[in-house]
Formats: sequence, C-alpha cells, structure tokens
Amino acid sequence: MVLTSQSEQLLALPTFKPSAPALADLKSGNVDTRLVFVLLTLAQQHALDISTIKTGHPMEPKTRGGFVNSHYYYRAVDIIAIDGKSIAGHETDPDIVDVGRILRSLSPQDRPDHIFGPAAWHATLRYTSTAGFKNDPFHNQIYADHLHLSFELETGTDNQE
Ligand SMILES: [Zn+2]
Repeated sequence: MVLTSQSEQLLALPTFKPSAPALADLKSGNVDTRLVFVLLTLAQQHALDISTIKTGHPMEPKTRGGFVNSHYYYRAVDIIAIDGKSIAGHETDPDIVDVGRILRSLSPQDRPDHIFGPAAWHATLRYTSTAGFKNDPFHNQIYADHLHLSFELETGTDNQE
C-alpha cells in the first residue's frame, strides 16, 4: 500500500518514536488515517513514545468483554511516554496533561472516542465521557501506565461535543 503524505510526515518527525512493531504497522499503510492525523498533530508539539498499534497487542478482534478491539483494526494506539517522561509516575506533568488538552481541541469527528489514561491525568483534565475521555476506576487502573487512543467505529466517532 502507498503511504499517505500524513504518514510520511509523521514518520519523518524526530519527535515520533514508535516501537519496531508500531513502525512496521505504520509502514504497512494499514493504520487508520484518523489515527495518523491525531499522532501527527500530537507529535508536532510533543515527543511521543509509542508501544503498540496492532502488532504485538494480545487481544483478538473482540475483547473478553465482547467489545471490538480497535487495536486489531489499526484504529488504536498506546502512548507510553511523552517528551521522554513515562506516563507512569508523571500523570500530572504539564507536558502529559497538555496532550490531553490538544486532544480536546480537536473537532469531535477528528478526536478519538476512546481516550483512556491514569486516574490523576483524567482528574487534572476533567473532560467528559461525551468528549471521548473515559474516566472510571476500572479503566484508569488498566491504563495506569499509558494513554490509549482509539476510534471505535469504522467511520465517524461517538463524540457528542
Ligand atoms: Zn490500547
């Protein structure tokens, strides 16, 4: 598959630091164009360490809870560090919080509709579920050491604001 110009731009940014599997996913040309746009927007302002897009994610097309696993469809990304600071231990660091603000500034259709992260990060941002920020104790625990951004639907988003 031919890479889009946004994918090319993203891969050319020194601030964008994908793991080897995530890099291979991007080079395959299969990553959702909405996700590429979000990563490009973030990486133009902050350095991002990416662990997983699709390859290496342990889950099948459906999660154990019966939900669609958006990683499987190249519509999700896990960010483990921002500007060289791991998410774990820096949940309220201004640069890591700023990534949440940048996400919130995107239009509802451009913004991932599942945005998960640690409790303290959500508590600082105070954005709502209808804007995609899913803040509950169960998920905050699962996403204590990374930010998970995903588009749940094949097209469009569930964001109401
Ligand atoms: Zn994830």
